[in-house]
Amino acid sequence: MEISVPDAPYFFKTSAKYPGRAVESILFSDYGFIRAIYEKQLAHSSLNPNALQKHLDFVFAAEEVLTPKIICPFCREEPARKFMHVNSLFFDQRFIVCQSFDCLEKIRHDHERDPIFSLRPKTLASTYFRNSSLRVEASRLLKMAYGIITPHSGADYILALLKEALEYSQKTCI
Ligand SMILES: [Zn+2]
Repeated sequence: MEISVPDAPYFFKTSAKYPGRAVESILFSDYGFIRAIYEKQLAHSSLNPNALQKHLDFVFAAEEVLTPKIICPFCREEPARKFMHVNSLFFDQRFIVCQSFDCLEKIRHDHERDPIFSLRPKTLASTYFRNSSLRVEASRLLKMAYGIITPHSGADYILALLKEALEYSQKTCI
């Protein structure tokens, strides 16, 4: 599939739930909502996809190759890729880890039964995060992991992250 890289974020004008909000921002707070729109688009996809579908083709291709900006606190080398939810605690930076076997063992050491999730927006759509207050906490952790923390890092910043991720993956695939 040919992915066309957008020049600007896509803002919903008439969405009942998110009027005026950008696809990019919602991706990190309510992934399931954006994904459902995409599935609907794909179900009716034609030879001439509309602007929203093209935008979502790009967003979801890039989401798959996103790399968090923070480094694993155990090896201090690899980017963090996963996080653990420990009991009833809020999500905590100490329970973030890369995907190496050794580091995962360290995080599991005292927390065998606690669930581990991928540090990607996609995780927000898992059934575990149907509970909206948990989802809000997980969303906050994801934003921190991707550097989406200042008032300035809005949709433009997230679009740049997505572009960078896709470009990098295309370079390394060749
Ligand atoms: Zn590590």
